[in-house]
Amino acid sequence: QQFLKGLPKVELHAHLNGSLGIESLRDLGERLYGSTSHKLLELSALRFQKNLDACFESFKFIHELTSTAEGLRFATELAVRDFAQDNVQYVELRTTPKENENYSRRDYLQIVIDAIEKAKEKYPDTLVKLLPSINRTEPVAVAEETVSLAVELAQSRSDLIVGIDLSGNPAHGKFSDFAPILARAREKGLKLAIHCAEIDNPSEVKEMLQFGMSRCGHGTFLSPEDIVLLKQRNIPIECCLTSNVKSGTVPNLEEHHLKRIMEADAPKVISTDDSGIFDTTLTQEFLLAAETFGLTHKQCIELTLEAVNHSFASDQEQKEMAERVAKYASTLQ
Ligand code: 5GP
Repeated sequence: QQFLKGLPKVELHAHLNGSLGIESLRDLGERLYGSTSHKLLELSALRFQKNLDACFESFKFIHELTSTAEGLRFATELAVRDFAQDNVQYVELRTTPKENENYSRRDYLQIVIDAIEKAKEKYPDTLVKLLPSINRTEPVAVAEETVSLAVELAQSRSDLIVGIDLSGNPAHGKFSDFAPILARAREKGLKLAIHCAEIDNPSEVKEMLQFGMSRCGHGTFLSPEDIVLLKQRNIPIECCLTSNVKSGTVPNLEEHHLKRIMEADAPKVISTDDSGIFDTTLTQEFLLAAETFGLTHKQCIELTLEAVNHSFASDQEQKEMAERVAKYASTLQ
């Protein structure tokens, strides 16, 4: 635990609104309502997941908390704080731009960008990147707007906006509807992190693999042949153990597909998904992986270096991250 906590970790799969721990929810409530016992906070803090649909339901409460500029701004800062406190040296935050009476989608992204900038001053040891998300349950026109905004904002902030995420309830929406928009993002230089094989839908997985991606989110229902293909193409699978077990897509830790992926020696990264919703941390995810699959310290370091290599950071940033990991490793000998 001590070793894993101190490891300068790399988080590549974290949804902003899912990444607020209980403490942060309280702090958010205090800031927004002057109280830590608001009804919305209680609902947001409920950890009642049994299946994927229930998980998506719980986001509704958190989305209400972040439905004002102040709520969104502070939540972003708190999410970075939570990762920084867990000794995460690099985090790619993904979030779905939303619009309501308080902000437009453009405002949403700008608020998040400004909050990340502010967090940088407070948590200088944690480098943050941003991946605007497409929610597949929303209309295609919304996805088009999201990608247009991402491409436009990335022109001046290519150091921050590095890719696009495709997420949202996988039981809804059709990948083929979003493929042309994702292709446009890719042409414009944005990397693609795609939730793929989160549920058992082989025909969609085939379409997604044919289309290609930089990283595969979850990959729970990938066939052995799919895993071989990802290995050949050096596409890592973002493994989120607690999330998968708590949302019921994987029956238990022992049967988590990380095992099959490791046996196939395919690329993988360990991630939290929604550390707040699933009440976990990246340290905890490494601990579970280590305990369940008998990983050594050396293997945990290698997994972290794998995440460095598959991050959407610049070559120089990757070099610096790897050096931090190596320095930490050397203190252990
Ligand atoms: P946000 O984009 O609002 O910052 O983060 C929450 C959103 O991320 C959810 O409403 C959902 O669209 C997406 N999300 C979070 N966790 C998961 C997950 O495990 N699977 C999928 N497919 N989408 C998720």
